[in-house]
Amino acid sequence: MSGDLDVAVVGAGMAGLAAATELTRAGLDVRVYEAAGHVGGRTASVRVDGYTIDTGAEQLSPRGYRATWELLSRVGIEDHEIPLISSPISMWRDGRAHPGVAEPRGLLTGAGLSPLARVDLARFQMWLARRRGEFDTDDPQRTPLADSTVADFARRYHPDVHDYLLQPVAGTFFGWDTGRSSAAVMVSLLLAVGDASNWRTYRGGMDTLARRLATGLDVRTGQEVHQVVSTGSAARLHVGEEVVTARAVLLCVPAPVAARLHPGAPEAEADFLRACTFTPALKVSCLLDRPLAPEHGAPPYVLLTPEAEDAALSAILFDHQKHPDRAPPGTGLLTLMPNARTTAGLLELPDEEVVARLTGAAARYLPGLPAANRRNFVHRHPHGLPEATPQALGLRSRFMARRLRPVDYAGDWVMLRPASEGAVRAGALAASRVLSRLRAPLSIPTQARSRRVETA
Ligand SMILES: Cc1cc2nc3c(=O)[nH]c(=O)nc-3n(C[C@H](O)[C@H](O)[C@H](O)COP(=O)(O)OP(=O)(O)OC[C@H]3O[C@@H](n4cnc5c(N)ncnc54)[C@H](O)[C@@H]3O)c2cc1C
Repeated sequence: MSGDLDVAVVGAGMAGLAAATELTRAGLDVRVYEAAGHVGGRTASVRVDGYTIDTGAEQLSPRGYRATWELLSRVGIEDHEIPLISSPISMWRDGRAHPGVAEPRGLLTGAGLSPLARVDLARFQMWLARRRGEFDTDDPQRTPLADSTVADFARRYHPDVHDYLLQPVAGTFFGWDTGRSSAAVMVSLLLAVGDASNWRTYRGGMDTLARRLATGLDVRTGQEVHQVVSTGSAARLHVGEEVVTARAVLLCVPAPVAARLHPGAPEAEADFLRACTFTPALKVSCLLDRPLAPEHGAPPYVLLTPEAEDAALSAILFDHQKHPDRAPPGTGLLTLMPNARTTAGLLELPDEEVVARLTGAAARYLPGLPAANRRNFVHRHPHGLPEATPQALGLRSRFMARRLRPVDYAGDWVMLRPASEGAVRAGALAASRVLSRLRAPLSIPTQARSRRVETA
């Protein structure tokens, strides 16, 4: 096995950067190729006119993000750089915002649920408490509900539990259609991450960790990889006009991109790649000349607008409430997220039309928006979040038991976890797989071994 590099990593999102960090620390010659002009992938932030805009991921939690917090402490990012988001998540119902979604107080205040549904929410929570030990975010295919969708599971409860809790949460934070995605993944995540009143964000933008990791690595931005070919013991990488050889290649890109780049993947890998479908995501940022909030109650960080109430929007995020450094003093920053069912159609439309549709819909909740809105940006993610369908869960065990080969994979989809922690965990796992393969003693083919025994 020889090549220009020990390891070529394709993609400088959290999975690629986490993997490259481990492999570089282990002393290997590693290079990261990134198609975009910046690192971070779906955690990237952009800075415009004093505003810091998170183009993808918004927050993380002190619970359920163990690999991320380990990495943070390793690179010296301290607690105060990841402050608490102190504003609540609210649910829109009957003309007003109800705070306390995904918090214990929601059980008392309702957070938009009717009294009968609140009783069922308590039943749901008791069920979770009893079955807690059976759920595992690392192995959702082995947990209860692996064959059920979120909508199937919700039928056990009052319809509000779906319409005013599970649908808006899944639709906004994962871009999911509850009729397609797995209840096992959602329940595992809710249990792992816990109470939303503990959620945090990075001071200075969600790309803080990605940028810090990249400083210690050989990252080539603006370098799109077109194809990866396994040569048996190594792999060839087509990057622009160049062909690079590496002892190992890690495809740290969404599954549909990995399938396109590596058409020669063995069937046991290819069928899981095909099953790992993604939901698209789109966000419209509104740079405001003043901070806005819904008319009544404490200003929320997120206002969820359920499908039962709104066909156009799934949520409005008040970025200036998330952290004051997101907008210059006295101004405001909003993120408008479309209803998950309409996102795919919006991806095809010109920016002006997307902005007009979503700002038009948001004015219902924020009548001051047209006057305060100064500038807009549209962020498109054709591969927004892993859909984690029961079909994908069914194929995961075989994929996870795949042989060590020169071309391997990382990304949130490997863990079927629609969150950056899934990407970091997958990156660490991929790094350990590469190390075991490259550091394994050279195997002697069976025939040669038996011949040696005979002649000894
Ligand atoms: C709108 C939205 C909101 C989210 N909110 C949260 C949140 O609040 N909290 C949370 O934990 N997670 C959130 N997530 C999920 C989180 O962002 C992802 O799970 C995580 O960032 C995925 O990392 P990754 O490395 O697997 O993939 P990516 O971040 O997609 O990285 C892949 C990289 O590969 C590059 N690439 C692609 N093709 C090529 C090629 N041919 N050659 C070279 N490079 C290539 C891409 O440009 C990209 O940089 C959100 C995601 C979205 C879209």
